[in-house]
Amino acid sequence: MSQIDEVRGAADIVKIVGDYVKLRKAGVNLMGLCPFHQEKTPSFAVHPTKQIFHCFGCGVGGDVFKFVLLIENLSFPEALRRVADKVGITLREAPGDESDQAARERGQLYKLHEAAEKFYAAQLTGTAEGRAARAYLADRGLADEVVARFRLGYAASNGQALTRHLSEAGFTPEQMERSGLVQREAERDRVFDRFRRRIIFPISGESGKVVAFGGRALGDEQPKYLNSPETPIYTKGRVLYHLDRAAAAIRKLDYAILVEGYMDCIAVASIGVENVVASCGTSLTENQIRLLARSSRRVVVNYDPDSAGQAATERSLALLLEAGFEVKVLALPAGLDPDSFVRRQGAEAYRKALSLSPTYMDYLTDRAAVEHDISKPEGKVAAAGRVLPYIAQVPNPVLRAELASRLADRLRVDGRLLRQEIERAAGEKRREIRMEPQWAATRVTPAERELLRALLEDEKLADELLPALVDEGVLEGLAAEALFRQFREARRRGEKLDASSLEDQVTSEHQRLTYECLLDGGEAPDRVRALSCVIALKRAKAEREREKLQTAIREAERERNQEKLGELLRAKDKLVKELSQLGRP
Ligand SMILES: [Zn+2]
Repeated sequence: MSQIDEVRGAADIVKIVGDYVKLRKAGVNLMGLCPFHQEKTPSFAVHPTKQIFHCFGCGVGGDVFKFVLLIENLSFPEALRRVADKVGITLREAPGDESDQAARERGQLYKLHEAAEKFYAAQLTGTAEGRAARAYLADRGLADEVVARFRLGYAASNGQALTRHLSEAGFTPEQMERSGLVQREAERDRVFDRFRRRIIFPISGESGKVVAFGGRALGDEQPKYLNSPETPIYTKGRVLYHLDRAAAAIRKLDYAILVEGYMDCIAVASIGVENVVASCGTSLTENQIRLLARSSRRVVVNYDPDSAGQAATERSLALLLEAGFEVKVLALPAGLDPDSFVRRQGAEAYRKALSLSPTYMDYLTDRAAVEHDISKPEGKVAAAGRVLPYIAQVPNPVLRAELASRLADRLRVDGRLLRQEIERAAGEKRREIRMEPQWAATRVTPAERELLRALLEDEKLADELLPALVDEGVLEGLAAEALFRQFREARRRGEKLDASSLEDQVTSEHQRLTYECLLDGGEAPDRVRALSCVIALKRAKAEREREKLQTAIREAERERNQEKLGELLRAKDKLVKELSQLGRP
């Protein structure tokens, strides 16, 4: 038995999930509120005998390792280790194992970042150059306590300090280069620090471990902000600055404040408004939105009011609306960014402005009303045109209609016309989506679904039915065809039909389908029902063929090809007989 199986066997998913989610018994399953998306009615299911979880809302699912991996934001080996610790199993090191190798490499990188963070922090107080930087920070209103809390540091201008320090600490040149903190100059074959003469902001992943750094130029050097490159532990657009510390407050208050930069984030958090995160330079990505959605689906966007900030705000807003977020916008007065606003006007003023943040639609309408003269018909049309596309993006139709009415009131136009216009725009948007290949699960017939579940539950039945299903071509053209074939291959190799071990071999759609089938609830499948599903699939296949034949027959009639026609009609007769043997549905 592999170590993975050993740990899986010893762990109880109900208990481990129960540490994070309140679960209630519902039939064979346990249900709770999904920790990976915001919801009010439980759609997160745990199957105690299969030892799997699945959310019918957001589609996430897997075994106990996957759960720990997602909720703690760990790599697979780390999640394995975490679960092993929980159940008291000591893992053997398996040298040469590639995933272990990768985990070790990541482990080294975390250690290197930790060492670098301490070094940068010490530079800020321990060197003359660092003290000058410290004075600059003090001038920006950052107290010692804040500098310590955000673990700010300083990178010296000489370009060798960190390289020398890491090398003395025993890190190899390869490790240093892989971290991106040290760069190689090819021509002269020497290495030097990436960050020079910059204030250093450590960037942590959700677990709180430092994964990258941001550096702000102390003088007029360009770029003003420089970040770590991507490494095995850091992917741009997959980290939100300060989320590791803010997550608890965001969950508690059920909303997040989204700002642009490190300094904005620190300024807001240091006045005790803890539920703040920064997207940091990049415009907000879908991955960042997904990260945020685990804690709350309500957000106040507080970007810089300059024109670049405006554009970034509107791009972010479109993405957030599509993800079903409830969005407010805080545009601070006098063109101030959060950092300067807090410094000049103080904590109370910021809290007050925050509490008055208008909803996104009101914000947009206000702006449109400023840009256009809404006392004139052309102005109304232009203003409505500015706001409509955003309303059309809101996924919930009831909310969409309400927003349309509010916009109509504000512009004093006919609400019915405006709602029609929005439904037309929203319909177009949905049609666009429908053009894309449909999600397999939505095309899966009930017979397919039930058969999948029966095969997953009963291996003997799988061995009895799968070979014929594949060989006789019954599955051809089905939405889950590839999944059935994977089952067959797995059984051929003598593997268990186990949802979590199949995970690497099937597409994410099919993975989701597998979990849905297993957590379906309802009666347990049995052989008789499974056989009736097979018959239903055979009938569906025969009917598809009959349609094809019918088209070919019409073609042959047009061509007056008597020989071909006779052949086709005989084939059709045969099919009709087969169909009658399969019985009526
Ligand atoms: Zn969910």
